[in-house]
Amino acid sequence: MEEHFFKFSIFSAFSELSHGISNRHFGDMRFGHQKEEITVKNREQFLHQLNINISDLVVPALAHGAQIAVVDQNDRGKGATNLKTAIMATDGLITKDSNVYLMVTIADCLPVLIYDPTLKIAGVLHAGWRGIIAQIVPKAIEKFKSLGSEPRNLVVGVGPGICQKHFVVKKDVLSFFLDYYPSAAFVRNNDGYVDLKKAVFVDLKNTGVASTNIEISNVCTACENGIYGSYRKEKEGVPAAAAVIGIKQ
Ligand SMILES: [Zn+2]
Repeated sequence: MEEHFFKFSIFSAFSELSHGISNRHFGDMRFGHQKEEITVKNREQFLHQLNINISDLVVPALAHGAQIAVVDQNDRGKGATNLKTAIMATDGLITKDSNVYLMVTIADCLPVLIYDPTLKIAGVLHAGWRGIIAQIVPKAIEKFKSLGSEPRNLVVGVGPGICQKHFVVKKDVLSFFLDYYPSAAFVRNNDGYVDLKKAVFVDLKNTGVASTNIEISNVCTACENGIYGSYRKEKEGVPAAAAVIGIKQ
């Protein structure tokens, strides 16, 4: 399995950056759904493709919220080989340090990879509908600003993740998106649909990120379920993917 994973072309200009998103062929990247050593082995096999050592990885325990942690080289290894050391109840990580690789797991929710090539700051978000409602994207851009970043300098990759035609939502979720992201929600045959990628794009635009610096993957995890894990299609047995970003030493 060489070079058989997703990469954003928008990051190819930055040779100091490592990033990638796995797919179902690399197996489930979460803890708690299979033997711990299988998760570790899956992670190691994927990280090997990126030339990353698992001991340099930092992984949060996701909560579908908007908590974002700024981590540094002292956090390396947290959550990498077990769940107990993971950064708790956190859905976003940011680092200014090189050789610190940030990872979230996803299965329909969107991975959002953010890079400031001017200040060399990297971040990753796990953004599903709950996280988007909780404003994880604007909160992440605020965190970058607090570290000195200018939003117009940020380069962002969004997805792969579920497309709008596969994302039917309940009435209360629909009404939130109709109110706050009208361009990302619609009703058809009494069912409400939400376009999470569009909602993230709206957040990024509103916080000052240049649209020319945003790459939205058109890959849908449900449409391309043969390659990607989809929670909506597979429920608890879904093999969650890993989204990784970091700055090489
Ligand atoms: Zn789809």
